[in-house]
Amino acid sequence: MSDDAIRCDACPVLCYIKPGRTGACDRYGNRDGQLVRLDPHVVLDRAKSRGDSVVPFLETEREWDGSIVKGPETFITAIGAGTTYPDYKPAPFIISSEVEGVDMVTVVTEGIFSYCGVKVKIDTDRHLGPERNLVRAKGEHVGHVTTSEYGSQMLSLGGVRHLTGGSRNEGNVTCETLLDLCNGKAAELEIDNGATVTVQADKPPIVNGALEERMRVGCGSATIGMFAKQWFGKIDEVVVVDDHITGVLSEHQAGKMLAVPETGIKLKGRRSTPGRYFKVAEPGTAWGGTNITDPLSILAPFDANVAWKGLRLLMVSTTGEHYAYYELDDTLQPTEVELPAELRVSVERIKENCEPALCSVLFMGGAGGSLRAGVTENPVKLTRSVRESLTRVTCGGAPVYVWPGGGITLMVDVSRMPQNAFGYVPTPALVAPIEFTLRLADYGALGGYVERVRPVSSLLEDNGRVRVSPRPENPWPLPSHGGKPRS
Ligand code: SF4
Repeated sequence: MSDDAIRCDACPVLCYIKPGRTGACDRYGNRDGQLVRLDPHVVLDRAKSRGDSVVPFLETEREWDGSIVKGPETFITAIGAGTTYPDYKPAPFIISSEVEGVDMVTVVTEGIFSYCGVKVKIDTDRHLGPERNLVRAKGEHVGHVTTSEYGSQMLSLGGVRHLTGGSRNEGNVTCETLLDLCNGKAAELEIDNGATVTVQADKPPIVNGALEERMRVGCGSATIGMFAKQWFGKIDEVVVVDDHITGVLSEHQAGKMLAVPETGIKLKGRRSTPGRYFKVAEPGTAWGGTNITDPLSILAPFDANVAWKGLRLLMVSTTGEHYAYYELDDTLQPTEVELPAELRVSVERIKENCEPALCSVLFMGGAGGSLRAGVTENPVKLTRSVRESLTRVTCGGAPVYVWPGGGITLMVDVSRMPQNAFGYVPTPALVAPIEFTLRLADYGALGGYVERVRPVSSLLEDNGRVRVSPRPENPWPLPSHGGKPRS
């Protein structure tokens, strides 16, 4: 190597970087012989979000007298803070602050996560693919379809197996897909024997090229329960078509309570409980997440001993996107006629009660590994401290959910984090910001690097930092109740 190249040791790749060049991840560069983190370091600033004039960075704390510095209006995030891989040395920043008279410490680092992925919730009735089927990006396996939730299809993407256990290209594409999704960009995903879906955090999904507008109001049975009263007296029968639980008004408990007469309707599929049918069709992207385009295809002939000529039947999907109105003819065959205005209102009401369809992206990672050694010499004590709610964990200042059980396995909604909070290294692994905030006294007790604690004022002279407003929906990351983090 040429003499003027310097080695970056912020990840296992250990790039040699020539002057004026960047390393393989573009996060570090050689600037005049110095290894520098190239992206700006992000500081949350409450004064900025209030519209107060912004003074030079922490001007009020410039004259530090050696005591713990008050810094409740600013929070030093880990975004752009750098990494001290493999954590044989303390985290890049260990910052002191005083909150309501309690001395606090925030340990700030960009973690390298080989054990990470995203859980994606896609608000749509449309069947995206069978559970367990593989999800691909650019032809590579990057995850799978997992258990669907109420009104949403779920994908589990990434994880250590896709990052490290397949081909090099599978790992790289997985890392790239996770990075895009975590940084709020769109990713196009193909599901084996299923749909193509474009996913972007906090944006509507695009399924097979069609923008999804509405999340279902409920399952077919719930829809009957919600709107039975509004249909009563205006219609004889309603079927809410749903891939999971199709509802039938006259048989449903809600219809019984309203004394809706029997209609002799017969549905295909499996009757679960009165007025609730499973598997009336196959999953698909048409009516109510089924594969049907003709709703009559889920009906068997009406019972001639009960049904009558002129019987009024409404069939509607769980989003109100599909609907059809029929009247029985002389032979008790449904004949489609125009939906009467008074019933149109009820269809509109179903649509009105549907929430906008969105994609939600939750980063999930294991922080129970070596990065703990950058916080304390005795890593298990950090795990215990998090478990005991003495240490608050945040990602870019955003609140996280820490899973029960062993380790520090966390989830965070990427849309609550500042923009472009994530990076990557080509091992491949994702780089995610993580901050641990706890009382100074507790930090000392768990074997923290108290000699490396520095006041916020010590960051003054470096102009490579940007202030951003905290997101209004997030709690302020520094605890405000006597220093003891809430659970
Ligand atoms: S990939 Fe990035 S973090 Fe890793 S050694 Fe190279 S420049 Fe440093």
